[in-house]
Amino acid sequence: MRALIGRIPPGSKNFLAFKPAHRPTLSATKGKSVSETAAYLESEEVQKRGPETGTLVTHLVGDAIRSGASDIHIEPWENSLCVRIRLNGVLRELIHLPLDYMEKISGRFKVMANLVSYQTGLPQEGHAPADPDLGGVELRVSVFPTVRGEKIVVRIFDPTNRSFDIAQLGFETATLDAFLHIISRPNGLILLTGPTGSGKTTAIYAALCHLIAKHGTTISIATVEDPVEFNLPMVSQAQVNSAQNFTYPIALRSLMRQDPQVIMVGEIRDAETAAIAVQAGLTGHLVISTIHSGMAAGTFARLINMNIEPFLLASSISGVLGLRLVRLNCPDCSAPYSPEPGLMATLSEEVISAAKFTAGQGCEECFDTGYVGRVAVTEMLTVNDVIREAILQKLPTGELADIAIGQGMQTLWQNGLRRVIKGETTLEEMARVVAIDQL
Ligand SMILES: [Zn+2]
Repeated sequence: MRALIGRIPPGSKNFLAFKPAHRPTLSATKGKSVSETAAYLESEEVQKRGPETGTLVTHLVGDAIRSGASDIHIEPWENSLCVRIRLNGVLRELIHLPLDYMEKISGRFKVMANLVSYQTGLPQEGHAPADPDLGGVELRVSVFPTVRGEKIVVRIFDPTNRSFDIAQLGFETATLDAFLHIISRPNGLILLTGPTGSGKTTAIYAALCHLIAKHGTTISIATVEDPVEFNLPMVSQAQVNSAQNFTYPIALRSLMRQDPQVIMVGEIRDAETAAIAVQAGLTGHLVISTIHSGMAAGTFARLINMNIEPFLLASSISGVLGLRLVRLNCPDCSAPYSPEPGLMATLSEEVISAAKFTAGQGCEECFDTGYVGRVAVTEMLTVNDVIREAILQKLPTGELADIAIGQGMQTLWQNGLRRVIKGETTLEEMARVVAIDQL
């Protein structure tokens, strides 16, 4: 009986050098990374009769949930069906399966998510409701046709695992105070920036939960999202549906007539949505949204490019919060270390002498990654009279950023460096997450 599975050797750092054997063989997994899936595939019954697809998929999802992964990526590679999980924002291999499992596995996920089983040439998206067999999590399944077959990404939503306590976001005191201050105002537009998975939605939900805790049943909060990631109590949440032409602008215009006090807009990505959000912020609503921009200070240029007049921005935006998540050193295996010389060269003598450079060495508790959990790194730009004047003058982003720094803003890099100095994370992790051009 041929071996069923293969795995990149633990500790193998050189990803590109990995060439799975034509018939992958099982190599020993170690520590906590021993998977239920591997154990199932090695079992005598499976060795005799082959795996049952439903059980195999349950084990794959179970492994991902037990390790605390946010999503599962299943994709046909050249010689294997690669299954990876995203842990603390970074992909990691779970197992490699023979390529001929691909159709059965994608078929199983399609049944679970109520998708069209025979459809293999077009992307499909759906969700599988929480199942006690899968630990009560909801799965958001996305199937994408590639030239080698279907690539499946499953996002894992654990309703019991979500905390929207603003104090638990890990913001430093100054950032938290400034953020609380702008969300406590009755009007204005608050924008969050950062790539996918940088904690923007969690921070916005935490802000909304904070307002509910503060105002109770006297406040009216409505959202337009794509998609609604979590159902919040006492909040009217709507999900855009472009197939039915229920777009951000249409939803927002309609919502404005209902006059909620607080409006959350999932993302500002077009001029029309931007104009409505700015207008709402100017007319007595508190509007919270996200926008794509590398630096917090770049938000203004981005909105001016969407044909929003600088004077409208200057009077409507109360603050921009740049967010990233950096992984924290594993408490069980952290030890002093020397960062890469190239990165060290970017630091001042002052920082180098103050820093307790610490890195996780890799152990069972952290699945050999050296990191456990993540924490927010922030760049809080609060709009005051000086910044307002700079926005009116349409200053380039770099100049605007310098003025904001002069007004006390810490850049993402400066904020994150404080965590490196305290030994909470590594310089390499900061460089990975925060673009080096933001030094
Ligand atoms: Zn560790």
